[in-house]
Amino acid sequence: MTDTAFVEIRNAAKSFGSLQVLRDINLKVERGQIVAIIGPSGSGKSTLLRAINELDPLSSGEIWLEGVQINKKLPHRQYERHVNQVRQDIGMVFQHFNLFPHLTVRENITLAPKLLKGMSAGEANALAEQQLAKVGLMEKIDAYPSQLSGGQKQRVAIARALAMKPKVMLFDEATSALDPELVEEVNLVMKQLAEEHMTMIIVTHEMGFAESVCDRVLFMDGGVVVEEGPPEVIFRNPENERTRAFLRKHL
Ligand code: ADP
Ligand code: MG
Repeated sequence: MTDTAFVEIRNAAKSFGSLQVLRDINLKVERGQIVAIIGPSGSGKSTLLRAINELDPLSSGEIWLEGVQINKKLPHRQYERHVNQVRQDIGMVFQHFNLFPHLTVRENITLAPKLLKGMSAGEANALAEQQLAKVGLMEKIDAYPSQLSGGQKQRVAIARALAMKPKVMLFDEATSALDPELVEEVNLVMKQLAEEHMTMIIVTHEMGFAESVCDRVLFMDGGVVVEEGPPEVIFRNPENERTRAFLRKHL
């Protein structure tokens, strides 16, 4: 397929048992675009992000990344290989960091490049240093996650994702678990990625941040995209009453 957007989600639906969580979601993200997803708790934002890298595979619909269908139906062994391959192109940052607690920062970052990309220890180490410098944490390279602040952990998690040279970065409320004074250091790293034209899909509760970095905003509620558009429209002049009600509470 050559006519798909860089990231494209088509007619995505997802149920957990009898609970339908996503209904007919469509999304196109061009290379270098930054899309924010906002919406109330339980609206399906995390499920949608997790579907993109097959952590929560869709019940129906398609997900494409640079002309490759992520959620291809394949025989089990081929599927495993395919998913391992495509996940290398998709960096994900979670609310709760998900660093390996028993590994140092260096080991957290070098693990996947060594294991999945067959990088030598030396190459992976150089890469770890490069990514840590980028998030301003070189001095923590031999620390364990427990020795870091929440903001530092999240910056390491971002460095770890970037070390795989992903085509797209997914952020699921990356700053929600942080003390307020630590939010800015993580936002700054994300802004820097935006300036480097990293393609990003960002689930966030921070409307100001979304407005300042995103090209487009999607408002989700009840498993559907209720409204989408440029930030100045969604935040300043939304059409839908549900969007307005949500923003009255969160702006
Ligand atoms: P959001 O991220 O917008 O808060 P989620 O995607 O986490 O929403 O959840 C959407 C709905 O799906 C919620 O009702 C949630 O309880 C349900 N859900 C999420 N994950 C699972 C799961 N693994 N099993 C069953 N229900 C789930
Ligand atoms: Mg969520």
